[in-house]
Amino acid sequence: MSLDKRLGQRFLPYGANYLDWSDLRELREAVGQGVLFRYQTEGESVASRLERRVAERLGARHVLAVHNCTEALRLVLISTRPRTGDLVHIPAVTFVAVAGAVLASGLVPVLVDVDESLSLDPSLLPAGAERVITAHMEGAVAPLPEGVPYVVEDCAQALGARFPDGRHVGTAGYAGTFSFHHNKVLTSGEGGLVTTGDPDAWATMRRYHDHGSARVPGHYPTWDADAHFGENFVTSEGVAAIQFQQFRHLDEVLAGLERHHAIAMDGLPSRPDLRVLPRAAGDVKTSVRFRWESRELRDAAVAALTARSIANWTLGKYLLPEHPVLTGRRSLYADGFPWNLAPEGPLALSRDGFARTRDLLDRTLCVPLSPELTEAEQILAVKDLRQTLEAV
Ligand SMILES: *Cc1c(COP(=O)(O)O)cnc(C)c1O
Repeated sequence: MSLDKRLGQRFLPYGANYLDWSDLRELREAVGQGVLFRYQTEGESVASRLERRVAERLGARHVLAVHNCTEALRLVLISTRPRTGDLVHIPAVTFVAVAGAVLASGLVPVLVDVDESLSLDPSLLPAGAERVITAHMEGAVAPLPEGVPYVVEDCAQALGARFPDGRHVGTAGYAGTFSFHHNKVLTSGEGGLVTTGDPDAWATMRRYHDHGSARVPGHYPTWDADAHFGENFVTSEGVAAIQFQQFRHLDEVLAGLERHHAIAMDGLPSRPDLRVLPRAAGDVKTSVRFRWESRELRDAAVAALTARSIANWTLGKYLLPEHPVLTGRRSLYADGFPWNLAPEGPLALSRDGFARTRDLLDRTLCVPLSPELTEAEQILAVKDLRQTLEAV
């Protein structure tokens, strides 16, 4: 395939470039045995093997596979046994799924402004905050708040990232959530995982995700004295099998991103009105983030890159204080649940009404990196990027 063609496909998720029939042995096995339900037999399911593999690789005590990261967030929140209407502090800059998971759990999101790196600023949290979701956006490791009973790390965009002390994201708080949606580090189309170090939390989530039951694999579910209502978030062997294949390539994807990032840092455009945002050593280098001096220049850069078919994106879509679901307090419930449980006043914490954040987002531009390219192709891609940005 030509380089232009391969670069033109950059909207493929990272992991999808590594999908290959010859490497899908778990899927062949599941299909060959005619078993796609994880609790069909007493033997170890592909889903359980996946959970074991992820736990080992990330240093997580417990892992539970679910359908997607939104469900994973919801499951984690419910496992904390909240009261309906309890507040959950979430980043003002993240995908709306985070707010959706909070609301769908009968809880009320409070938007907390972000710092210069666009991560939730823990210094804005009120004393006594009980539940905080922080998101490691675009592989950038966010600081975690201290003294909060339930810190949830949304790692949808940061599988494989590490804190400065070496721990993987998703293992430092109460629980971590991961996505295998199309656009994430690895993909199975849809797919999600929960990690937690708390065995009771894991047991509660395992029950809730399987109709509140204490199921023994290979048997019909049972409901004992501790039973509660639940839902069905049980993953499929087919999806788990693809996740397993994808996981085999995690190190290759991460190394490819590191290499491409290093090449990009060596060949960046030099302009006084353009800054490259620093990346920490433990970040997953899914993109290079640029900050322009003005929104006009940023918009001109978007147009120039797009005209040359160089993939790029901006982050305004993540500004939740301007999202219609939040500004309009939208809900399908006739009584407006759970917004009807919200306290009076704005559900937001910011020093300046998000003005600085709006400005940062308006001037930010992200260019994805391509782990699957050879080194020679990455050098060419960076040259192309540099020339295009210098001509803006
Ligand atoms: C993608 C994403 C989600 C939702 O993940 P799904 O698996 O699509 O439900 C949640 N949070 C963040 C930050 C995301 O990027």
